[in-house]
Order: sequence, then structure tokens, then C-alpha cells
Amino acid sequence: MENQKTKEIREMQGQFDNRLKEQENEILKQQNELQRLKISKQKSQALIYIIGSGGLIVTVIFLVMFWRREKQVRKKFTELAMVDELTGVANRRSIVQQAEIEFKRFVRSQTKVAFCILDLDFFKKINDTYGHDVGDVVLIEFAKIVTGVIREHDAFGRIGGEEWLLVLSQIEEENINIVFERISELSRDITLPNVEQKITFSMGVSLPSPEDNELEVVLKRADQALYNAKENGRNCFYVQTNDE
Ligand code: GH3
Ligand code: MG
Ligand code: MG
Repeated sequence: MENQKTKEIREMQGQFDNRLKEQENEILKQQNELQRLKISKQKSQALIYIIGSGGLIVTVIFLVMFWRREKQVRKKFTELAMVDELTGVANRRSIVQQAEIEFKRFVRSQTKVAFCILDLDFFKKINDTYGHDVGDVVLIEFAKIVTGVIREHDAFGRIGGEEWLLVLSQIEEENINIVFERISELSRDITLPNVEQKITFSMGVSLPSPEDNELEVVLKRADQALYNAKENGRNCFYVQTNDE
């Protein structure tokens, strides 16, 4: 009888222990699941963080590249707006701007400066005889020659057709002749297939005086001087000052 009771109590205890273990196991399982979920959440967060910062870096790189390209395009546009497409020298707008700067410098400090308008002689004849393309080559070659002859602080550009503006700064009047002769010599040497006409030009020079306060007036005098040079038989230059 006693044994029977003890047996039952043991059985009950065994069952109780088993249930306790099962419950403990269940709790452990739940804890594991919780831990797994936690790790999985952390992994997802890390992934989101990586994707997020990667996206941010890509966006920043893209924006920097876009900004740089924009800057380059804007610079190119500004350059193009200042350059004569055919010859690569300064265009009218640019050379007149540079002439304005030199004229202002002259007004401030009366430094020596000469404003010269150059015009190719009988250029229409070249176009008519040999074709417009040959005329274009002559313009390109002439621009190269002048660019090669002038000094770094001089300015040169095409003001239209076969007309050019040359600003010689810090120049003594007697040296204008040297510049003219040098350009003349090299221009006459331009040789193009089947082209017999020698390339010459005429030049009108205006020397500003202390009474001058407008570039436009100074350039008008250069134009007048050019007219005189043409009248004088071309292939020469003429200097005009304010007191003539
Ligand atoms: P002058 O000795 O009196 O200066 O006579 P010219 O023939 O040089 O001057 P004119 O003004 O009669 O002719 C200038 C010519 O320049 C007429 C025009 O067709 C030509 N011209 C203007 N721009 C260009 C250009 O970009 N390319 C070419 N090939 N010709 C041009
Ligand atoms: Mg001409
Ligand atoms: Mg002309």
C-alpha cells in the first residue's frame, strides 16, 4: 500500500517534472525565436543603412559630376561667345571689350596705345576668282600671322568680314611701322595652290590724345585713317591723331 502511494507520488512528480521541462523548453524556444527575430531586424536595419548611405553617396557623386559638367558647358559657351568661329581669334564683341579696357587704362595713366583697323586689300577679288573657301583660308592664315607677330599684351580680333582690330599697347609711334612691315611681309608669303594674287592689307591707326574720352571716337579716326590708306593706293598704313 505504502509502496503503491510512493509509486504514484513519484509518477506524479515525474509528470510534473516533465511538464516543467516542456514549459522550460517552450520558454527557451520562444526566447530563441525572439533572439532570431532581433538578429533578423538588426540585419534588415543594417541593410537599409547600407543601401541608404550607398544611395546617398551615388546621389552626391552624380550631383558633383552634373555640376562639373554644367560648369564646363557654361565655360565653353562663354568662350564660344568671345571667339570668331572661322579664325579662332577674338570676335568683334571680345576685341571691342579688350579695346575698351586698354582705352580706360590710357585715360587713367596716358600709357601709349595705338588702335589699328586692318582691312585686306581686294579681298572680294579673291572670293570671286578662287572661291569663298579660298577666301576663308586666307582669313585663317592672316589671323595666324598677326597673332604670331604681336606681343602678349597686345590684343587682336576680327570685327567683321576681312576687317580686324589690333590694339598695340605701350607702343612708340615709330614702331608701328615695324609691326606693319612684319605682318605685310608674312602676308605676301601666303601661298595657296593656283592663287596668284598676293595678300596685302591696309591699316588705319588712331593714336588717342589726353582730350579723348570715348573709344568710339578714337575708332572712328582709325576708320578715317584706313580710308586714307586705301585712297593712298592700299598696302600701306596711315596714322591719325586728334589734332589733325
Ligand atoms: P578693299 O581693297 O577696298 O578693301 O576691297 P575689298 O574687296 O577687300 O573689300 P569689299 O568690302 O569690297 O569686299 C569684302 C569681301 O569680303 C566681300 C565679302 O563677301 C567678303 N567676306 C566677308 N566675310 C567673309 C568670310 O567670312 N569669308 C569669305 N571668304 N569672304 C568674306
Ligand atoms: Mg578689303
Ligand atoms: Mg572691308
